[in-house]
Amino acid sequence: MSTVHPDVETVLFSEEEIAAIVQRLGDQITQDYQGKDLVLIAVLRGAVVFMGDLMRAIKTPLSIDFMAVSSYGDKAKSSGIVRIVKDLDMDIKGRDVLIVEDILDSGLTLKYLMKNLSSRHPASLEVATFLWKDIEGKQAAIDPKYVGTHCPDAFVVGYGLDFAERYRNLPYVGILKPEVYS
Ligand code: 5GP
Ligand code: MG
Ligand code: MG
Repeated sequence: MSTVHPDVETVLFSEEEIAAIVQRLGDQITQDYQGKDLVLIAVLRGAVVFMGDLMRAIKTPLSIDFMAVSSYGDKAKSSGIVRIVKDLDMDIKGRDVLIVEDILDSGLTLKYLMKNLSSRHPASLEVATFLWKDIEGKQAAIDPKYVGTHCPDAFVVGYGLDFAERYRNLPYVGILKPEVYS
């Protein structure tokens, strides 16, 4: 493997593992959306890397659009408050919408988004999340149809995920060294 960033303590998912995960999800979605009117909606900014890979792994016609919401700021904890910063450019009425997310933790962000998007009457509305912090005793507010992989209850970076807007470009997912936070 190539060199690991000095701020990263542990690599959780390597570039090769990520590629295999995305391939599997792409195959599944390709099968499930044959003959449908698929729209992938990525939530900026964290999901852009996953979106770029996933859309190329899906072999059925699709469109893409983006939304930006703010809920986290630069902190490592959810505020539970979600605000739409950038809305869709597209009309999703009657279309088969798949929300593409980088990571599902509390699910508060997605719950809000799903409620908002379902009020626009898509034909279907599902979620594909690359990571799921599926922690025992901590139920997420939503149930994603497609899950890349489960993730431990740590703050992770890379593959689109940031800490204070850094580390999004790391090609793997890792845990930062504690001293980076302080
Ligand atoms: P939720 O609303 O599900 O608690 O969190 C949603 C958002 O919080 C994610 O889309 C992501 O932007 C951010 N987030 C949650 N956990 C992590 C994490 O471990 N690392 C990073 N970088 N962001 C996270
Ligand atoms: Mg996200
Ligand atoms: Mg972030």
